[in-house]
Amino acid sequence: SSVVSTSFQQEADVQENILRPKMLCDFQGQQQLKDNLSIFIRAAREREEPLDHTFLIGPPGLGKTTLASIIANEMGSEIRMTSAPALDKPKDLAGILTNVTEGSVFFIDEIHRLKPALEEMLYIAMEDFEIDWVIGQGPAARTMRIPLPKFTLVGATTKAGSVSSPLSSRFGITCHIEFYNEKELAQIIARSATIMDISISKDAIDLLAKCSRGTPRIANRLLKRLRDFATVLGDGIITTEIVHHGMGRLGIDLNGLEKQDRNILRTIIEFYDGGPVGAETLSISVGEAIESLEDFYEPYLIQKGYLKRTPRGRMTTKKAYDLLGLSSIRNSNE
Ligand code: ADP
Repeated sequence: SSVVSTSFQQEADVQENILRPKMLCDFQGQQQLKDNLSIFIRAAREREEPLDHTFLIGPPGLGKTTLASIIANEMGSEIRMTSAPALDKPKDLAGILTNVTEGSVFFIDEIHRLKPALEEMLYIAMEDFEIDWVIGQGPAARTMRIPLPKFTLVGATTKAGSVSSPLSSRFGITCHIEFYNEKELAQIIARSATIMDISISKDAIDLLAKCSRGTPRIANRLLKRLRDFATVLGDGIITTEIVHHGMGRLGIDLNGLEKQDRNILRTIIEFYDGGPVGAETLSISVGEAIESLEDFYEPYLIQKGYLKRTPRGRMTTKKAYDLLGLSSIRNSNE
């Protein structure tokens, strides 16, 4: 078994910051989103108001954190970043809210994981720019109303469906971030290679773009690993041969699917006859946390047409049988 993890999913790494575009014009792809956002930002600046609260929705690694800091840069304001699991008690959130500066951006990642008491505090803060703080206990308790500076909340989530409607309705701007196409990924890879001073051929860039799962974070990580292969096994230049070799070693195919992706599809086909199978059962069968199954693996498999979500559970499509070289006699309804 392999000691090196070949899964390229969630966690951000430290080096990621040097590759992060600073301004909207460096942010590749998502053209419509960028066009709209740049208008909202210009309008807010002209009125000398903070930008409306902004909701960023999309799978991990597509640029939500990056966009939050771009919004702050474009507004010429400060940014304060946190994530919902890091906020435990109401005072954790109150502490940040009472310290934000006028016009600044407050970024909360994984906002669907905010505890209900904190969520309630947050949506009052978003709407009225104040918080109600309870002092004392029992009959002696009283509520103190604390005014807040006008700020912009940028909330990010991989799961829009898990955010309560009182919270989601308080965002004035909602941005859905989609998987990137190969051309956009190629641009991102070329840009990252320049920043990190990596030699890579044009064909190798295009090939790597296909293997990157529509995700800039994965494209950047694979680029770094390929540099290692090129350094040790080649002459330092990433060629198409190096990409083929590297992807083989990492268990990634030319559709960008990892071992676990193929394992998920194979499990549904072989154990559940192509489905439908519930997410919890599937999560146990493939040994993957339900969160990463739903947030990371499934969105790409669905987007690529290998998997369907139905009310009765997950089902594989004919394309999945073809991918794995299995016959789909049972799935006559496809
Ligand atoms: P998320 O917050 O959605 O998980 P991040 O914003 O942390 O994703 O992005 C992951 C990495 O991918 C960052 O290092 C960033 O440099 C890169 N990236 C994301 N989107 C883009 C883009 N549109 N153009 C260029 N690089 C991007």
